Amino acid sequence: MKRRKPSTHKVIKVGITGGIGSGKTTVCKMFEDLGIPVYYADDRAKYLMHHEHHLIDEIKKHFGDDVYENGRLNRKVLADRVFNDKAKVALLNSLVHPAVFRDTERWVEDQKEKKVPYVLKEAALLVETGSYKALDKLIVVTAPLQVRIERVTQRDDTTVTEIEARMRNQLSDEEKVKQADFVVENDDGLEQLRAEVLRIHEAILLLVNQNIPVEK
Ligand code: ATP
Repeated sequence: MKRRKPSTHKVIKVGITGGIGSGKTTVCKMFEDLGIPVYYADDRAKYLMHHEHHLIDEIKKHFGDDVYENGRLNRKVLADRVFNDKAKVALLNSLVHPAVFRDTERWVEDQKEKKVPYVLKEAALLVETGSYKALDKLIVVTAPLQVRIERVTQRDDTTVTEIEARMRNQLSDEEKVKQADFVVENDDGLEQLRAEVLRIHEAILLLVNQNIPVEK
């Protein structure tokens, strides 16, 4: 296969993260409405676990062939195998993260062809995994805990206990905000949120247009 020459067009990579129910996806859709492409890392990780041959081989090698059934990942079997075992969770992450990283780089190259001013990478654990360090800027979406729990119980068929368990794997808003270049406080209505997104969009465009160095 002929390899495409990497584009020389520079594009700023902006990470976007936030705790469960903070409104990351809602914010990303608003950026998409402004013409900014978004890489949804968590969805893409699931896709890669089903389709990337090298990653599938590695997962089978470490967690057993029967984690895949007729070519389909059996998430329940895999979850049972890593359940409550920090070392196994870390091992799985060490297999998935490089695959997502490579996939992100390929995706960014594709976006460069479209001459977009910047791109977004959305993931729940950007700060926790340290992946944000490979990005130029970071947006953190925050909301009060109670609001987040209410939003998720309304959106998903889940319990408060399950939501709290997921929250325990995530850093607090306070910790995440320490690494942020932009903070979206999503504790009001959607119109307020859209205005906030527009403000950040314009601030990033200013960086792009002024050619301000963005490397962290
Ligand atoms: P997760 O981490 O679970 O993927 P998330 O951070 O991506 O969550 P969203 O799915 O964007 O969060 O938002 C959670 C729910 O709250 C959704 O149903 C969304 O429509 C709603 N929501 C988000 N922000 C607001 C807001 N400002 N006003 C009203 N509803 C909101």
